[in-house]
Amino acid sequence: MPSTVRRAACSLVLVFASLGLVNSAHAGPDAALLEADRIGETDPARALALLDRLALDAGARRDAAALQAIRRRSCWLLGVTAPEKALALVRGAGTADPGLQVCRGYAYEQLNRQDDALADYESGVEAGRRLGDDAVLARALALRGEQRYLRGLYGGAIEDLKASYDLERKLGNDGNQRYVLNALANLYADRNVGEYDSALARYRELLLANEKANNRKGAATAHFNIGSTSENKGDLAQAREHFALALRLDEALGVPEDIATDRRAYAVVLSKLGEHPAALAMLDGALRIASGMAQPDPDLVAAVRLSRGGALRRSGRHAQALADLQAAQRHFEARRNDRFLQKIYEEQARTHEALGDWKAAYAAQSRMMAVQAALHKRMLDERTTRLRVQFESEQARLRNAGLQYQNAVQRIELDKGRTIRRWQLAALAASAAAIVVLCILGLRQRRIGLRMRDLAMTDELTRLPNRRSLMAFAAEAFAGARKEGGALSVAALDIDYFKRINDRYGHALGDVVLQRVGHALRGALRPGDAVGRTGGEEFIVVLRGAGELDALRAAERLREAVERIDCGDLPAGLVVRTSVGVAQLGVQADTLDALLVRADEALYRAKERGRNRVELSAA
Ligand code: GH3
Ligand code: MG
Ligand code: MG
Repeated sequence: MPSTVRRAACSLVLVFASLGLVNSAHAGPDAALLEADRIGETDPARALALLDRLALDAGARRDAAALQAIRRRSCWLLGVTAPEKALALVRGAGTADPGLQVCRGYAYEQLNRQDDALADYESGVEAGRRLGDDAVLARALALRGEQRYLRGLYGGAIEDLKASYDLERKLGNDGNQRYVLNALANLYADRNVGEYDSALARYRELLLANEKANNRKGAATAHFNIGSTSENKGDLAQAREHFALALRLDEALGVPEDIATDRRAYAVVLSKLGEHPAALAMLDGALRIASGMAQPDPDLVAAVRLSRGGALRRSGRHAQALADLQAAQRHFEARRNDRFLQKIYEEQARTHEALGDWKAAYAAQSRMMAVQAALHKRMLDERTTRLRVQFESEQARLRNAGLQYQNAVQRIELDKGRTIRRWQLAALAASAAAIVVLCILGLRQRRIGLRMRDLAMTDELTRLPNRRSLMAFAAEAFAGARKEGGALSVAALDIDYFKRINDRYGHALGDVVLQRVGHALRGALRPGDAVGRTGGEEFIVVLRGAGELDALRAAERLREAVERIDCGDLPAGLVVRTSVGVAQLGVQADTLDALLVRADEALYRAKERGRNRVELSAA
């Protein structure tokens, strides 16, 4: 189990309190405000009380700038601890302060009103740019970037976070800089983005910055994240080194939850490296610490037990392994956490197998496959949703560009009184800009449209044309052959004993085999022909211009291509073969459907006559 725990670089309260400081710089750094910032880092309630008193004073003095600086600080402090009150504060302020608006967005976010949050961040970005308020702009961009990330809009998220980071650097705000850099690194390290090296470079930068600022908590987090990204990347030696460093720092800091988390992650890597006794000792310690906490975190305890179950199994202590796995199973079944359950069932199957209890192993394996199927389906659903969100947000951008164009034109009309020369120039510039923007957006829209079409026509697993797409190709080839009187054949393929592969090695490996078969078939194709996945382990090949002899030769080549698939990295004993049925388009009034039926009948015969062979349709 990869360690996906990823901790934030520093607390939001701390970060945003220091942001408030920057905002009030023009009003002169007020000693009382600085004091409130300092207190807010450890005792938000007391800082809020102090800010309330300062607000009363500033109100009496009618000092609007001071009042704004105070309100922003109060809002951020409340946003984290009591978002409802932050909303009330913004409502009560009655001003159009963009800094407060961004803070309101943050409060919405805490209350899980993500759409409202995003809307506030959007206006914050717009206002920050318009007013040249870099502190507000930087904050709004960082938060919008994280919102975009949540919605799977990775490109836009990276753009925002990078811009925010540049601004924070310009403002010289170290804490914020580190926060944004961490968010950016987490985004790069996300499995969907997979830019592990970019993530690692940024975590290293953070490590240096935290070491320089003597922030040991931040340095521990950076080590942990380097460890976990290296693990995902497959670099276990580096993962081990950094988890060890994170653990050493956290042990010095003494937060039990962090120590247990580090120990678990470190132990999983040790176990992957085959160092069982060390891994087990590390996990025993993690469990002792996790369950000995004042308020034990049950997720953490169960995750540690799962990891220890795996390590116990690998060192041959099966009965103990089963006890740990069962405890973890009870917890994650109640939580319906499929990701952990998949791993638990897999470990249980392997343990029962090692004990020779085939019946229990089979039951666990079946449970694992069911969970895996559910996860796979959810992943596909999420991908489709992400595409839809991208599509809709591009449409919104397009509408916006149109509105901007209209605004530009209206503004120009208002300025008509001025010299005609300026009018023409402005109109030209605005139109050119709008046209460029519309062209760029139009191109993007087209690209997304093409991708969605591609998704609808392609089989997700093998990347081959799906049934719908293949049938369209076949219909075209059929019409062409009929019109020009050319030859046409089709071959129907079905993998032999595929159910056995699934049953013996698991559905996931079955999927790998399907991908390899797809790849092999595509490689054995002549130019102008097409292959598609038309069912579970069934494929159809359309052979254009092929008479009986050509078609038989091509079919034999396809069969051999499957036979020659390199299974070197797959379990020993795995055999992949396919049977093929071929049918040639007759001169008489044959339909495409009839042709396909004949190919299927030939395939059936190939199966009957022993499989791994080609049969030709008689008709
Ligand atoms: P034969 O064709 O030689 O008669 O035997 P077979 O074992 O291949 O026969 P059958 O058609 O009964 O088995 C096909 C199996 O393919 C059953 C189904 O579970 C599996 N299958 C279907 N779609 C998928 C898929 O997307 N992935 C995996 N891994 N298996 C699949
Ligand atoms: Mg079949
Ligand atoms: Mg089959």
